[in-house]
Order: sequence, then C-alpha cells, then structure tokens
Amino acid sequence: MDNPMNLSGHNVIVTGAGQGIGEAVARLVVSLGGKVVLVDLQEDKVLAVAEDLGADNADVYVGSVADPGFVQDMVGQAVQKNGAIHGLVNNAGIVRAAMAVKMPIETWQQVIDVNLSGVFYCLQAVGRHMYERAESGDTGPASIVNISSDAGRRGTIGQINYGAAKSGVLGLTMSAAREWSAKQIRVNSICFGVVETEMTETIRSDKFRDGVMAQVPMGRFSDPHEVSQPVCFLLSQASSYITGQHLSVNGGYTIGV
Ligand code: NAD
Repeated sequence: MDNPMNLSGHNVIVTGAGQGIGEAVARLVVSLGGKVVLVDLQEDKVLAVAEDLGADNADVYVGSVADPGFVQDMVGQAVQKNGAIHGLVNNAGIVRAAMAVKMPIETWQQVIDVNLSGVFYCLQAVGRHMYERAESGDTGPASIVNISSDAGRRGTIGQINYGAAKSGVLGLTMSAAREWSAKQIRVNSICFGVVETEMTETIRSDKFRDGVMAQVPMGRFSDPHEVSQPVCFLLSQASSYITGQHLSVNGGYTIGV
C-alpha cells in the first residue's frame, strides 16, 4: 500500500522556516519526499537550514510576509522555477506583548501585519496559482495550512493583537476553503498550544511554567518535530477529504483538565 503521507512530487512553501516550527516542518516535508521553498526574514538562519537540506530540496527567499510586493515576487519565482506549488504552510509569526489598555497602536499593527495580513498575502498569491492550475485541468494536490493558536480560539491575556490575528486566521481559512473547495484546493488551520521554541521562552520560564502546564491535560509541552507531523498530514493526501477545519494540537488544552 502507498504511504498516504508521502510528499514525493509536492513543492511546498514554508514561511518562517529559519527556526522553530517552520524549520521542523521544512525538514519533515523533505524527509517525506517533498521539496521546500523556505521564506524568512533571518537570512543566516534560513540559509543554514537550506544548506543542510541540500540545493536539490530547498530554495530560499529572504523577506517579510508582511510585504505584499515581496510575496508576489517570491510566489511568482517559486512557480516559475518549480513548475507548480502544491502546498503552503503559513507559519511566520511574531509576538509583541502588552496589556490591552496599554498597547501602543504600532504594537497592535505590527502583529496584525505579519500574523494576519501576511497570511492573507501568501494565501492569495498561492491560491491564485492553484486556482489557475485547477482551471487548466491540473488535478494535482493543492493544500494550504494556516498556523493559528489556542489564542485564536479562546483569547489570551497580554496579547490582544496576537489573539485577534490568530482568530482572523480561522475566519480566513474557512472563507478561502468555501471559495476554493470546488476546485479541490484545501485550506485548513492548526491551533497549537505551547511548543518549546524561542517564541515561548517567557511562558516556559520558572515564573509561569507550572501555571501554564497545570492547564494541559497531557501534562507536558510539545516540541517542533512533534507538531510538524500534523502539519504534514494536512499537506498530504492522507487528509484529502478535509477542508475548512481547525485542528487543535495542544495536549488537550481546550478540553480542560
Ligand atoms: P519562532 O519565533 O521560533 O519562529 C518564527 C519564525 O518566523 C522566525 O524564523 C522568524 O524570523 C520568522 N518570521 C517572523 N516574522 C516574519 C516575517 N514578517 N516574514 C518572514 N518570516 C518571519 O516561532 P515558532 O514558535 O516556531 O512559531 C511558528 C508559528 O506557530 C507562529 O505563527 C506562531 O504564532 C505559531 N504558534 C506557536 C506556538 C508555540 O508555542 N511556539 C503556539 C501557537 C502558535
């Protein structure tokens, strides 16, 4: 029997691939037989990941997903070089914490620009390409995975900008799925709990660790490799009848202890 998680022949754009979850997703896509287009702001880190994966498996574009011109050029060049893009993982994200009453407008805007508008720019550019391919009779795979968060399902204290952006990602996922499903273009999101990366260093500090951990029924945090697996499931043909869904990958956090 063929392995339904096999990604041979899949070209996948992964944003925020220089470290953390994006890097782990890129590595697993290549392990499963696919090719990756790596996007990140941090040139040194993303080049190092690409070098490790090998020139045949990985291309690199350095720039910001919050810049619509960069995104257009990046997707256009990736399509030209690879012929087709079969997957997109909208993973790049930032946190800029402040309580709602004190949050400067710039801090609100920075997070919305990257975590919501950036997701839309990439989804629109890749979705257009997938739509045109489908119209021309190409029945190849087409899957977009948007990285959201538990913060998008139930809010978060001290990051109203992040919570709003991640909720917005869920709305964007369902709308795009409804517009494109008839063309067999699938769009889903994943809501992570706490994954041990640079982004979560603060909440994993001694000060917060026990309080956050006590709310996770499985009693542990996750790591980038573990959570990259459900991302690849949604990219692969193993999830071929799933679209418009939000998959929680959080040790049971949203069901409660
Ligand atoms: P991370 O900070 O370790 O990595 C994020 C990567 O995105 C970095 O390499 C960074 O350079 C890149 N990036 C940031 N802004 C960018 C931009 N404008 N354009 C291009 N690249 C940019 O974070 P992570 O923990 O790996 O998080 C990845 C995704 O998962 C984010 O969307 C985050 O919100 C989400 N998430 C993470 C957790 C967690 O516990 N780590 C939980 C829920 C959701």
